[in-house]
Amino acid sequence: MAKALIIGAGGVASVAVHKCVQNSEVFEEICIASRTKSKCDDLKAKLDGQGTKITTAQVDADNVEELIALINEVKPDIVMNLALPYQDLTIMDACLATKTHYMDTANYEPEDTAKFEYKWQWEYHERFKEAGITALLGSGFDPGVTGVFTAHALKHHFDEIEYIDILDCNGGDHGYPFATNFNPEINIREVSANGRYWKEGEWIETKPMEIKRVYNFEEVGEKDMYLLYHEELESLAKNVPGLKQIRFFMTFGQSYLTHLQCLENVGMTSIEPIIFEGKEIIPLQFLKAVLPDPASLGPRTKGKTNIGCIFRGKKDGQDKTYYVYNICDHEACYAEVGSQAVSYTTGVPAMIGAMLVVNGEWNKPGVYNVEEFNPDPYMDALNKWGLPWKESFNPELVD
Ligand code: NDP
Repeated sequence: MAKALIIGAGGVASVAVHKCVQNSEVFEEICIASRTKSKCDDLKAKLDGQGTKITTAQVDADNVEELIALINEVKPDIVMNLALPYQDLTIMDACLATKTHYMDTANYEPEDTAKFEYKWQWEYHERFKEAGITALLGSGFDPGVTGVFTAHALKHHFDEIEYIDILDCNGGDHGYPFATNFNPEINIREVSANGRYWKEGEWIETKPMEIKRVYNFEEVGEKDMYLLYHEELESLAKNVPGLKQIRFFMTFGQSYLTHLQCLENVGMTSIEPIIFEGKEIIPLQFLKAVLPDPASLGPRTKGKTNIGCIFRGKKDGQDKTYYVYNICDHEACYAEVGSQAVSYTTGVPAMIGAMLVVNGEWNKPGVYNVEEFNPDPYMDALNKWGLPWKESFNPELVD
């Protein structure tokens, strides 16, 4: 029996809250706290009386003192950070001050530069270790399940993994010419940055969307996918011994790319502040304000996501290939929790990661990425809580 403080009340948090309530045997009590308290109250109104006691609070998660006061009042076993990457360090500071376990789904990002680096959070390792508390980093789908898939492949299928390709396919259609499936600001920062992949101990940089492949995804069909940098490449390159190459590909439709290019060309995706009518604004934040709220895509999105990892390496001296993936249906997710599959595939692993920390299976003082824990209970929980995985030993490879 545990109590969780969930920070954020957006697309991902909403799914995680639904899943904690479904799992009321573990999550006896949750407090949902966010900048806009009415969103927390709406979730409480929807889910109250289903086994988990729910309270709500207003918090500015950029403010460490406010966070410490809230944690001292709620006294949670774990803080689930489902706000934005900008808040990771303030929430980690508050967890340290109150000796409370921490988890998140995205690495810390300074507001003024898109970095996608773990270094700031990894620097907390000794302090978390000394405090006897666990920080579980990146327990969404990617990062998150992709790291667990890697630990599972290493434990059960390979002596050595040499090549990893992470393939993230969203075959969903929301009917808008342009919208993002999760926080637009973070999404656009990610896809408008240079691509990067890791090969033979070095990072190789590409222009944004420079490397394109076509892949035939089960239950989705053929899709164009593009090489991107994604934060789990950094931790997996460090945590998988003997790895020769790791790449990440994400699918994008032509309409999305054409709109994005136009927005970039006119300067709307910039994170450099500009002065507009005497006030400093960040163009990308303004763009976010005019785009559809990702949470509003739920009822409109049809189709499936298919996300997984293709591993190549050695087992008993022989070459081996292994593909493990999950297929998730947007409409089924909406019917279950009122959100589309991109939020669902992140919110379910967030609940699972928090559950494993609080039930002791993944309680290891220090700061760790998901692939540094035993993957078995997580893999079982994915099957149980709505993200069943499939595997193939003879998949189509990416050249
Ligand atoms: P949303 O924008 O839908 O929700 C973010 C929530 O955080 C909102 O409720 C927002 O409040 C709240 N928030 C923002 N700033 C603060 C603050 N200073 N204090 C308190 N609350 C704050 O984002 P998503 O739910 O789509 O994404 C949540 C996280 O999940 C992000 O970090 C994202 O990068 C990550 N993610 C990870 C994925 C993975 O697979 N690992 C995939 C998708 C997302 P308000 O309502 O007031 O704006």
